Amino acid sequence: MNTNFTLSNGNKMPAVGLGTWRSEPGVVGKAVLDALNNGYKHIDCAYVYLNEKEVGEAFHEAFTTGGIKREDIFITSKLWNTRHTPKDVLPAFEKTLADLQLDYLDLYLIHWPVSVDPNGEDFNTVENPVPIIDTWREMEKIYESGKVKAIGVCNFSIKLLEELNKEAKIKPLVHQFELNPYLPQPKLVEYCQKNNIHVTAYSPLGSGGVPSVLKEPILEEIGKKYNKTAAQVALSWNVQRGITVIPKSVHTQRIIENSQIFKLDQADMDKIATIKTRLRTCDPALFFKKDIFEGSYYD
Ligand code: NAP
Repeated sequence: MNTNFTLSNGNKMPAVGLGTWRSEPGVVGKAVLDALNNGYKHIDCAYVYLNEKEVGEAFHEAFTTGGIKREDIFITSKLWNTRHTPKDVLPAFEKTLADLQLDYLDLYLIHWPVSVDPNGEDFNTVENPVPIIDTWREMEKIYESGKVKAIGVCNFSIKLLEELNKEAKIKPLVHQFELNPYLPQPKLVEYCQKNNIHVTAYSPLGSGGVPSVLKEPILEEIGKKYNKTAAQVALSWNVQRGITVIPKSVHTQRIIENSQIFKLDQADMDKIATIKTRLRTCDPALFFKKDIFEGSYYD
């Protein structure tokens, strides 16, 4: 299987990375070290996961005494919704860089197309009307400074991507959104792939939601045929569609299991496409104004 994808600027992005959302303090550092020591070349972080300091300590250990080279690892982080005001973007990026103990990132993403009160709580829903292009201009400046090797977005609809693409000097190189066999989002994937925006699947195992992707009978049945788990089938299905996956786990055996991508027959890919679409686990309607996402999901 392809272990790297190529972004539109020529940089490589590994097909599998470790997710770190809801990996708790005291646990996340070990998970990152476990992943790096078991061959992962890609770690997905974010300011709002509130664990970047501990992830940074793990990076420091790996890159100083752990025998891992920084340049071999692809590290992503994300700008949180309270930091969309142009003057706040660079300081937010620098805070993440300092917490992660790095001097550059491989990818920096706008976490949501939603700007909230910079003086409120991190999850405050009070709107702060900053046009996304103003935030993007600051992302472009960071990219041009060389401190990040690629920039992109998360959770954008096709409509929002089109609007951004019209004005952007540097087009988003990556779009990260929820993608798993219960939420295949074919139109959004097709739009990104046609427009050279590399897709990353978050919650590729369904994020512990109910019903569980990992208990889906079609995935279990296909898994039996290849002697693989439902998790490995779900992840391999996305990678085979040209998509990077970032499964989260804090358990060594699962971290190893999730990195073992394999090739599925076309008949099995087609069978997975028949699985009934379910609701999103990261439903923005729960957190944010719903009309921002109009026309993007459940396609
Ligand atoms: P996920 O990776 O789909 O699922 C994680 C859940 O599955 C955890 O409960 C984990 O438990 C369990 N698990 C992992 N591997 C397993 C296996 N082989 N067998 C059985 N259970 C397994 O969910 P996610 O954390 O929502 O998404 C992955 C990453 O995407 C996040 O961590 C984050 O980095 C990113 N993300 C980004 C956004 C965004 O807005 N950009 C939103 C959501 C997520 P254990 O840890 O106990 O193993």
